[in-house]
Amino acid sequence: MNIFEELESEVRSYSRGWPVVFDRAQGSRVFDEDGKAYLDFFAGAGALNYGHNNPVLKQALLDYIQRDGITHALDMFTVAKKNFLETFKEKILEPRDLDYKIVFPGPGGANAVEAALKLARKVTGKESVINFTNAFHGMTLGALSVTGNSMKRGGAGVPLVHATPMPYDAYFDGQYPDFLYFERLLEDSGSGLNEPAAVIVEGVQGEGGINAASLAWLKGLADLCAKHGILLIFDDVQMGCGRTGPFFSFEDAGIKPDIVCLSKSIGGYGLPMALTLIKPELDVWEPGEHNGTFRGISPAFVTATEALRTYWSDDELEKSTKAKGERIAAAFTDIVKAYPEANLVAKGRGLARGIEFESGELAGKVCAAAFERGLLMETAGPDGEVMKLLPPLTVTDDEITEGLKIIDESIATVLK
Ligand code: PLP
Repeated sequence: MNIFEELESEVRSYSRGWPVVFDRAQGSRVFDEDGKAYLDFFAGAGALNYGHNNPVLKQALLDYIQRDGITHALDMFTVAKKNFLETFKEKILEPRDLDYKIVFPGPGGANAVEAALKLARKVTGKESVINFTNAFHGMTLGALSVTGNSMKRGGAGVPLVHATPMPYDAYFDGQYPDFLYFERLLEDSGSGLNEPAAVIVEGVQGEGGINAASLAWLKGLADLCAKHGILLIFDDVQMGCGRTGPFFSFEDAGIKPDIVCLSKSIGGYGLPMALTLIKPELDVWEPGEHNGTFRGISPAFVTATEALRTYWSDDELEKSTKAKGERIAAAFTDIVKAYPEANLVAKGRGLARGIEFESGELAGKVCAAAFERGLLMETAGPDGEVMKLLPPLTVTDDEITEGLKIIDESIATVLK
């Protein structure tokens, strides 16, 4: 038995699909302790949009550490935080005409979600929140209460309350008009629906199975929220920071959510960092009413700032992400056509792509076959039935060719 199996809790998960010991990483490539290379099409579940150990970000981090830049500073004013805030304002908020104040809610995505839910309830004085089928918002109790997956919900150990699920886009395969049920419940004083403080939504459901809501559906949701005075919380933890092309996955829908959750790739380098963006009029917190020890890890501010400067000063990354995504989508459409009996479905937007199989077992076998051939990808969806691709946005065309070849071979091995 190795030290991991001996000491690490059974709760570990990714190490089960990829049972090797990783050591080094660079760009889209990770290496195990024996030096074997793997192409990483999972990118830290979306935390490594700019690749592993991105050299530009690494240099900024090394310089900062070398000059004894402060590492831990609670929520005190620091040069690292100042530079981040100025850069975020200049590169992200102002060009998109977005007016948000920034909460540093703690290091992870679930922290960003908890802050959003708490604030929405405080502002409105209502406790009920609308979430969507197959949503994933994190593993803390508030975030779990708005998450769909029954296995994960089961882990809570207490009732998960004050959330009402509604059908996400295409839940009924387009058989009913969008929001038919939701709108009826809102408008019927006899429906029994508790008046919601907020709606929480993902633009593309990552963990839920790469379900991409149409832009029209997202716009319709924003309009519905505005009409009924419901706050719109947009969870861009996994699909933000350029994953679908634009910096925010809601931009192409032309909406401006009331609250936005960001984490994963916002730190740029895989360092823990999260933000909850709130419309200024929602900033009703008392000082210290929501705080914590790790709410601004200065090295993450440094790499976050460098990532914004390097990749978000123009629209090159957005364009290349969309183009690479279209290339993968075309390859996936060919695969779907090549196996008419297998009822595959190609899914996604930008560089969040997936193929749905008839069972979790099949998708799992494909990912295992890919791992044997040196490619890391994961499954998603309620039964793990979707083979999910989240390559770094900096992935090269040659690496895409290499990855697609492995995917072709792996699917052929499993389906033939
Ligand atoms: N929200 C979304 C949309 C996510 O995909 C995730 C994680 O996958 C989270 C929240 C939770 O983030 P974390 O695991 O950093 O708590």
